Amino acid sequence: MSNFLSEVKDITRIERTAMHSHIQGLGLDDFLEPRNVSQGMVGQKSARKAAGLIVRLIKQGKIAGRGILIAGQPGTGKTALAMAMSHELGEQTPFTSISGSELFSLEMSKTEAMTQAIRKSIGVRVKEMAEVLEGEVVEIRIERPESLEGVRKGKITLKTTDMDSMYEIGNKMMDQLSELGISSGDVISIQKAGGKVTKLGRSYSRSKDYDINTSNINFVECPSGELQKTKEVVHMISIHDMDVINSYSRGFEKLFLGNTGEIKQEIREKINEQVLLWREEGKADIIPGVLFIDETHMLDIETFSYLNRALEDDLSPILIMASNRGITRIRGTNYKSPHGIPIDLLDRLLIIATKPYEYEDIKHILKIRAEEEDVEIDEEALEMLTNIGVETSLRYAIQLIITSDLVSKKRKGTKVKLNDVRRVYTLFVDVKRSSQFLKEYQKQFMF
Ligand code: ADP
Repeated sequence: MSNFLSEVKDITRIERTAMHSHIQGLGLDDFLEPRNVSQGMVGQKSARKAAGLIVRLIKQGKIAGRGILIAGQPGTGKTALAMAMSHELGEQTPFTSISGSELFSLEMSKTEAMTQAIRKSIGVRVKEMAEVLEGEVVEIRIERPESLEGVRKGKITLKTTDMDSMYEIGNKMMDQLSELGISSGDVISIQKAGGKVTKLGRSYSRSKDYDINTSNINFVECPSGELQKTKEVVHMISIHDMDVINSYSRGFEKLFLGNTGEIKQEIREKINEQVLLWREEGKADIIPGVLFIDETHMLDIETFSYLNRALEDDLSPILIMASNRGITRIRGTNYKSPHGIPIDLLDRLLIIATKPYEYEDIKHILKIRAEEEDVEIDEEALEMLTNIGVETSLRYAIQLIITSDLVSKKRKGTKVKLNDVRRVYTLFVDVKRSSQFLKEYQKQFMF
């Protein structure tokens, strides 16, 4: 697969999760009762309650070998619910989302793609002792977890309590890193000690692991810093990332480019052994994450039996599937079944249903999304957007928030007004109107 293609695919993935950035949890009280609006979640109460019960079962380790199916129409919050569940399982819980149709479009076999998705959803939290440089004002930390057969991973974090010196030292570090051929951007994170992660010039707001030999680096010059004792540091990595890193001599590069190719079975077996050993030795914890598979009816019988087996594995994530179909044919067979899922797998699934939203819920979700996207919107415009959401789809209405804001900004407005929404409604069609348009267009050519 070309790098270009894989980049595009990664971007769609980011966009897909960005749509749910307002979701922080299921919004339940201590008795697992859903609060009306909480943690970004609105309405859909019985589904949220059911999801809360399942999260409790997962936490008690009582869900092994089973999966979850969320059934409901498009835009009823199936993905949002799955994300909320993964938040409830803990901040570090990995969440991977794929859709059934995507499996068949990847340039690798569907079982390989499924295996990669499964392994992306299992995190390994590695604990290790690392040397920490700490000064009165500034801390530059180089973390180097145990190397895996010739591959070194490093993480560099610069911490400071002094915002002024931060920029100066940060820039120096950036320059030295670029001299070493390490690109800017994903290398350094600057943190105001105890506070929020802050952006530094060209860098992103978090540190990353990368392929680096720390002995090459001589930028360790922090004004009042001195070498301090070793400390326990914790890293989180998915076993898929470990597979990739260990498959190529420049594994980290492959990982960042999303260009991973097929992984050999021996490598996977070695990584499994390694991870299980680390766990035994108390060096690492295995964190089963959530694998969310949308458009389940697009999977075929072969993939289903593969999934069925994967659920039995020692290293398996929590499988959440979503479907908006009723009784439909199981791909690759002539049989029909509920949601197009084979009965033996259905038997293992706990099913949650989501219901279509009423006006007030849609309005509230749109309001939360507008806040999340920093868009000010007046009441009339919000009502119009809500009506659009009711008539077309919630997702379409959400997309109109940012586009209306652009139109409003263009006329130098500070708030989105009714006319801005009207404008974008005519500019961007929803699915119903776009297919109507095509139908009419087609008619002109058919006699
Ligand atoms: P589905 O997966 O069922 O097609 P989504 O989860 O993608 O639906 O929902 C569409 C949009 O509405 C997303 O941005 C999602 O985060 C948001 N959303 C859906 N349900 C809720 C809810 N109950 N509370 C808050 N936001 C929601």
